[in-house]
Amino acid sequence: MFAAKITGKETVEIQEVPIPTLEKGEVLIRMKASALCRSDLYRYHGQALFDETGAEIITPGHEPAGVVEKLGEGVDKVKLGDRVAIFLGLGCRECEHCLHGEVILCSKFNCIGFQQDGAHADYMAIPQENCLPLPDSMSFITGALSTDVGGTLYTACKRLGVNGAMTVVIFGVGPMGCGGVLMAKAFGARVIAIDLDEKRLALATELGADVVLNVKQGDVVPRIRELTGGKGADRCIVTGGGNTLNDALNAVAKYGQVGVIAESSSATINPSEQFVRKLVSLTGCWYFNRGDWDEIASFIVDRNIALEKISTHTFGIQDAKKAFYLFDHHETQKVVFVWE
Ligand SMILES: [Zn+2]
Ligand SMILES: [Zn+2]
Repeated sequence: MFAAKITGKETVEIQEVPIPTLEKGEVLIRMKASALCRSDLYRYHGQALFDETGAEIITPGHEPAGVVEKLGEGVDKVKLGDRVAIFLGLGCRECEHCLHGEVILCSKFNCIGFQQDGAHADYMAIPQENCLPLPDSMSFITGALSTDVGGTLYTACKRLGVNGAMTVVIFGVGPMGCGGVLMAKAFGARVIAIDLDEKRLALATELGADVVLNVKQGDVVPRIRELTGGKGADRCIVTGGGNTLNDALNAVAKYGQVGVIAESSSATINPSEQFVRKLVSLTGCWYFNRGDWDEIASFIVDRNIALEKISTHTFGIQDAKKAFYLFDHHETQKVVFVWE
């Protein structure tokens, strides 16, 4: 089988590797869709987002969907031919977080595509518990996008208590932010989308954003205040880098909430002015709990959420080099590898 490997800085190679053998409780997934993610680019640029352990080069890819092709010993929760998306992580199965299904909080958390082979490959092996059943009407591309983009943004909106009486500002409308526009609209909110790229703002409008603001046309904070009767945004969701966390903290209303999805290692903020005296809550949002999948998948299917529109480019795995290059150069929204 073939797998895309990041073999050096900004270097992607297609390698022929053996089809993985199955451990007890694992299944073999024949890949159908595997989305590229900003966090793949940390590896592509030579920095690890999570510690990597193996001496071998780990196959990237943590947003997949496919078909169960083979069952390992003792597998009883999925069957051959099941259409599934894949939950990205594995925990110790014993700590309080794992027992609650909050695998992403486990101190021994292992992520596919980082600590073990991921999904930018024809096949992957995964424990049966990581299989997320796809509703019949959900395509493989939507299934893949329903994990990191759909699941994270659904969970963020829920955690932030987004509702129809609120104005929600999405800072940054790359793929995550586009997911934010779709989800916040589906939760009923009025949505303002912010970016510096007109093409991205045009897509945000197509996805349902009520107002789009380009950062290049001046400070967005007074414009958000104007659009909210001077009050500020009820909720802000930060998916972009640069100064967007500060913009969000400045634009959020008293008693408002800011959800942070964008990964970064440092930021300078002014706690007194930006949240202490406004009684603002700041919430970290990342992925979702395994037990929430059925709720997330039903929400996406029942409300016809157009996640597939975020995927502007699809490629076969053989074109991985080109796919990474275009994705890295912001020529695309979500890029998805697809298989026949
Ligand atoms: Zn991701
Ligand atoms: Zn654990």
